[in-house]
Amino acid sequence: MTTKHFKDQIIDLDDLDSSFPKEVIQRSGVNLNTCLHCLSCAGGCEFSNNMDFLPNQMIRMVQLGLKNKALSCSGIWFCVGCNTCSIQCPMGIDISTITDVLCQIALEKGIVVAEPHILKFHEEVLNSIKRYGRTHKLEIMFRYKLYKKDWFSDMGVGFKMLTKRKLDILPSKISEPEEIKKFFQKNRMDNYAGQ
Ligand code: SF4
Ligand code: SF4
Repeated sequence: MTTKHFKDQIIDLDDLDSSFPKEVIQRSGVNLNTCLHCLSCAGGCEFSNNMDFLPNQMIRMVQLGLKNKALSCSGIWFCVGCNTCSIQCPMGIDISTITDVLCQIALEKGIVVAEPHILKFHEEVLNSIKRYGRTHKLEIMFRYKLYKKDWFSDMGVGFKMLTKRKLDILPSKISEPEEIKKFFQKNRMDNYAGQ
């Protein structure tokens, strides 16, 4: 994917929401206004090639109050929360928390998810935790592949993981799975993982 540049973008004035930066800062607890736009984060991000906007560009969109643009970009979904960028950031900005919050707001507002297959993967991980209290990787992969109708692309990796006993055939459960279900209910996470 080619990363976009602001100079090539037409800014939609109807998209400007002056309360948006405050909302993101309050929910994330991250002061993104200290960003220097030095690009250190983008340089270190292994996933920036897949993102339509670079991490600092996502921050800039939030700073400007470009709500829909920020919430509908693919970068917020490609971020895997590895924190490589935060370690390299001279201002110590926790970008993965910001992208998490942007994903949450996008879901709450019913914004079209730019990368629905990534959301599906997250949902399957949460479903697994809800069912067993742990992740059952084989089932997560099976369900995800079923959704994508793509059985063969990662066969080699899957086979290797099975032979190295990295994938359990049967799930293991925690002793009190009801506690996990209560946690999901308490945190109103059933919308994201309800099966
Ligand atoms: S490394 Fe930090 S200060 Fe530099 S652009 Fe990224 S978020 Fe901003
Ligand atoms: S936390 Fe997200 S934005 Fe930062 S380096 Fe990792 S994938 Fe990239």
